[in-house]
Amino acid sequence: MASTENETGEIVSSGNFIQTIINEDLEKGKNGGRVHTRFPPEPNGYLHIGHAKSICLNFGLAVNNGGICNLRFDDTNPSKEDVEYVDSIQADVKWLGFDWEDRMFYASDYFEQLYEFAVQLIKSGKAYVCDLSAQEIREYRGTLTEPGKNSPYRDRSSEENLDLFTRMRNGEFEDGSRVLRAKIDMASPNLNMRDPVIYRILRATHHRTGDKWCIYPMYDYAHPLSDAVEDITHSVCTLEFSDHRPLYDWCLDNIDYDAATHGRPQQIEFARLNLNYTVMSKRKLRELVEKKYVSGWDDPRMPTVSGLRRRGYTPESIRDFCTRIGVAKRDSTVDIALLEHCVREDLNLNALRVMAVLRPLKVIIDNYPQGQVEWLEAENNPENPAMGTRQIPFSREIFIEQEDFMENPPKKFFRLTPGGEVRLKSAYIIKCEQVIKDEQGNIIELHCSYDPDSKSGGATSARKIKGTSHWVSAAHAIPAEVRLYEHLFLTEDPDDETDGSDYKSKLNPDSLQILDNCMLEPGLAEASVNDRYQFMRQGYFCLDPDTSPGKLVFNRIVSLRDSWAKAKKS
Ligand code: ATP
Ligand code: MG
Repeated sequence: MASTENETGEIVSSGNFIQTIINEDLEKGKNGGRVHTRFPPEPNGYLHIGHAKSICLNFGLAVNNGGICNLRFDDTNPSKEDVEYVDSIQADVKWLGFDWEDRMFYASDYFEQLYEFAVQLIKSGKAYVCDLSAQEIREYRGTLTEPGKNSPYRDRSSEENLDLFTRMRNGEFEDGSRVLRAKIDMASPNLNMRDPVIYRILRATHHRTGDKWCIYPMYDYAHPLSDAVEDITHSVCTLEFSDHRPLYDWCLDNIDYDAATHGRPQQIEFARLNLNYTVMSKRKLRELVEKKYVSGWDDPRMPTVSGLRRRGYTPESIRDFCTRIGVAKRDSTVDIALLEHCVREDLNLNALRVMAVLRPLKVIIDNYPQGQVEWLEAENNPENPAMGTRQIPFSREIFIEQEDFMENPPKKFFRLTPGGEVRLKSAYIIKCEQVIKDEQGNIIELHCSYDPDSKSGGATSARKIKGTSHWVSAAHAIPAEVRLYEHLFLTEDPDDETDGSDYKSKLNPDSLQILDNCMLEPGLAEASVNDRYQFMRQGYFCLDPDTSPGKLVFNRIVSLRDSWAKAKKS
């Protein structure tokens, strides 16, 4: 259902159509009033923000309806799966704030049962072993406009099928030489119903079952039956599975899984999340990692949950985002500025405001006593007075931002200029007396004077000064590396390859900028990975795990300029 705007222009979630379906089911007493959902990742990559939408939806529906939600790994494709992914997925779901309690399952837990179900299908004449090659199966399948042709193996007897299927399991046949197919309808207008393959022979070591199996069930067969085994009531998935729903239902209809006691899962599709300036396909994200276009799955530019976490996003902001985008039946693309807006809103109230100079320019205050240090009081967050104040040191030599001084300023430049004045945040008013340059004409330091009565509470503190600059005391400053990020891609829709271009050709070469000579106020030496700060005028920042004892590294989570809020106002 579409989101709507309230009077202040904020997007508000207006409930969703899946909740409406659940309300109707609860009214009818369907499933005995139970609501049981699941989040079913395939452990073949790290979770991304699209998965976060599915997680919030599935766990959210459970929570909102007094139900429960399982975490189930759909691990039916051992060649692409790995425990690294199993571990990262658990960490990400927990970090997002959801709890599967004791209900973490694996489709591979059901391999024996899925095999028994297949035997049932064979015995009732609804599945057969087919010896056509993959290529031949494709040829026999027909097209959207032409019906398929029956496989010459379609009419094998149950006995023969059972014998062959047993021998498939026992490893008597080569990979790819035979498959088990559901016997449905080669003339069905839905290609998924033209005798789909439900088991294949594959000698691959599975991360959980090892070499126990050399046949593996296909996703479209394993998924509905895993849902049934787990007593799932509402099986929520993305729209591309709409055409698979008849097969989902066919599996449930043709297997005796004791629906009377288990109830019957219902597949419901919703639109996946697409974000501009990024790619979301696991294949592409994996390629970016493997070909080292990014530093890893958790590169702070990646749309992965681990990337967003490292970047400094809070779980609250991601859940807020997932609520605001709502749940719809039609595909659309969400502006990444909304995601950034959500983290800004969260941090605006909660982040400590500190001073950090990213591109330092030395300022010497000639009339300030040599060796003197004053500890001045600074507000921790003017939006949230409960956060209190802290003391910051002031001394004769300080750093200001290079861009806060201009020798030949344009009209509306309100910071330091030759002979001009600026207020130092939480400290004094200074005046620029002299500009020192090197031989190449680069400005290397400024000499200033200060007005001793201009600090808070002083006789001249109320003097009207247009500009305020942030600063740090040179003797007390903590050096740090700061990493600034831009969108990973230059174009809004990097997936659009209609002009024959590859998505990688649209990578933004300036998506990472490293500033390695930043100066921070001394309290930041105490920062830990879970702290988030507003560096005044520069944005929100957090410590990066690359920090080592000798070297602090900070990530910019997001700048202060809120293009989302701005677009909403205009
Ligand atoms: P794959 O191509 O590997 O299957 P996938 O993105 O579908 O990739 P899964 O691990 O199968 O990955 O996804 C787990 C769940 O998350 C599925 O229910 C899927 O529908 C949902 N999901 C995946 N991508 C998105 C997305 N962009 N928006 C919302 N839900 C998504
Ligand atoms: Mg999938």
